[in-house]
Amino acid sequence: PSITRGVTVEIPKVTWEDIGGLKELKKKLQQAVEWPIKHSAAFSRLGVSPMRGILLHGPPGCSKTTLAKAAAHAAQASFFSLSGAELYSMYVGEGEALLRNTFQRARLAAPSIIFFDEADVVAAKRGGSSSSNVAVGERLLSTLLTEMDGLEEAKGILVLAATNRPHAIDAALMRPGRFDLVLYVPPPDLEARYEILHVHTRNMKISNGVDLRKIAEDTELFTGAELEGLCREAGIVALREDISATVVCDRHFQTVKNSLKPALTREEVD
Ligand code: ATP
Repeated sequence: PSITRGVTVEIPKVTWEDIGGLKELKKKLQQAVEWPIKHSAAFSRLGVSPMRGILLHGPPGCSKTTLAKAAAHAAQASFFSLSGAELYSMYVGEGEALLRNTFQRARLAAPSIIFFDEADVVAAKRGGSSSSNVAVGERLLSTLLTEMDGLEEAKGILVLAATNRPHAIDAALMRPGRFDLVLYVPPPDLEARYEILHVHTRNMKISNGVDLRKIAEDTELFTGAELEGLCREAGIVALREDISATVVCDRHFQTVKNSLKPALTREEVD
């Protein structure tokens, strides 16, 4: 059994420009991530301890993972990715070992960002469930807390965690020096949807008749992931219609849009 299962190391290629909307959020993340890594000397000169953890929460498919990658790219940091669900499903002790090993490798590869997806699976409130697997979650959580507390001396390592269920996260993780910053990543508003459609059509040949603004208006409640899918599908519809097509037309976008229903509901958003 490989101890590095589920861990990938790279400096991601995604940039802030690949993410539509979220202007303020990107600015906040930029400061929180890039400054401590790029200007760590300035922080220690002033005796200011940089942030150790950031929690991103919001509905699925709205770019939490992509934001974490863009932050790593901007800071030219190694990117380590862990999934709470995967850790949880491992054999006894294996999940904790992988957690410790990842922090260890992140130290060696610093500056590093450890991205922790589905964090609530591991960092769920203690005593919150009666299942016999509670012990698994508690051991993983206490390992995570130990590792995060140990980051004090380690420079240039930041943990970014993502969850759709922020209320399920154990309060112990929210103490200062752990997840100091909590950011909500909302579903895209009109302007953001327009920008997302732009991002995902910039490498496509689309006809002048395609009105991205109108499509943005007609796709309320669509997530970034769904908009990305819409663009790709429109291209496939165009090819299915005519395999020698040279552009994707508005009617292709319309066909796909009319066949899709957003997964989010108004109640979830408001
Ligand atoms: P989950 O909670 O399911 O892990 P997530 O919030 O982490 O989802 P991502 O994995 O970052 O979402 O996004 C899914 C896909 O949707 C990505 O491929 C990304 O390109 C696209 N996407 C989502 N939001 C945006 C956006 N604002 N701009 C451009 N692309 C986006």
